[in-house]
Amino acid sequence: MKIGFIGLGIMGKPMSKNLLKAGYDLVVCDVVKAAVDEVVAAGAKSAATPKAVAEQCDIIITMLPNSPHVKQVVLGENGVIEGAKKGAVVVDMSSIAPLVAREVAQKLAEKGIDMLDAPVSGGEPKAIDGTLSVMVGGKKDIFDKCYPVMKATAGSVVLTGDIGAGNITKLANQIIVALNIAAVSEALVLASKAGVEPELVFQAIRGGLAGSTVLDAKAPLMMDRKFNPGFRINLHIKDLNNVLETSHELGVPLPMTAAVMEMMQALKVDGMGDGDHCSLVKYYEKMAKTEVKR
Ligand code: NAD
Repeated sequence: MKIGFIGLGIMGKPMSKNLLKAGYDLVVCDVVKAAVDEVVAAGAKSAATPKAVAEQCDIIITMLPNSPHVKQVVLGENGVIEGAKKGAVVVDMSSIAPLVAREVAQKLAEKGIDMLDAPVSGGEPKAIDGTLSVMVGGKKDIFDKCYPVMKATAGSVVLTGDIGAGNITKLANQIIVALNIAAVSEALVLASKAGVEPELVFQAIRGGLAGSTVLDAKAPLMMDRKFNPGFRINLHIKDLNNVLETSHELGVPLPMTAAVMEMMQALKVDGMGDGDHCSLVKYYEKMAKTEVKR
């Protein structure tokens, strides 16, 4: 089985290398030549356009920044749709708007091409380890066919519903992560200004009901003042934009998500858009005139 991989960025590069390690024949493409060269040196072949990738492959994976990039690469000029054979499958692992995933799948279906939307959670470290969590939308038989390929990049791969359900699940994930980081920030800023060591607060509460993967991953970074990404504020803004657009379309008010979105916008205006999303603590620190540190 030949696999195509389009989008060799922070996530796509290690994911494609894990597919090579699992023994898959890989054809890759990106607009950045250095990224292509690196994955070709690891054993992949390259193709000049998404169309040329699709002409050679049974499954075509895309790992691109957002909805417009996926539309361009899959449906645009020299796109996947122009080269893919009937029965081929597009597995879009980017985090995009669920309604766009459905629209792209519909256009592909008209040409006999199947699609799964399969965004991931876990960030660069888990992309490197091959332990990402993949949340998938699509038909069960197509999911079963592509499962071993997705599993080569992941610790868990779960089908959550029909096309679009993968990205709805990812939006739910991004709401929980954003609000959890905001809650950790509020709590640690309060403790710091009250004169209680945040490290001791962290140690005291992490085993109780307030404990979470976000608390364990982000509180140490806040206290060590390590704000390099990780997952950029700008990318989280992109995801919360998709969350709010989708929720407005469906008639679901999300007041807490909207508030955290505005905090992230304030950090972006302050020049911190490329910092890790745990930079949210700085928003609270500025208002409280204190700093969370060990
Ligand atoms: P990135 O910007 O590092 O990588 C995107 C890649 O797509 C780049 O190499 C870019 O050159 C390429 N690209 C863009 N347009 C293209 C085109 N027309 N043709 C070919 N290549 C093109 O982004 P990333 O951090 O790898 O994220 C990719 C997706 O995964 C995003 O949707 C992101 O939200 C999601 N995600 C990222 C993380 C993370 O921690 N970085 C975690 C989970 C999910």
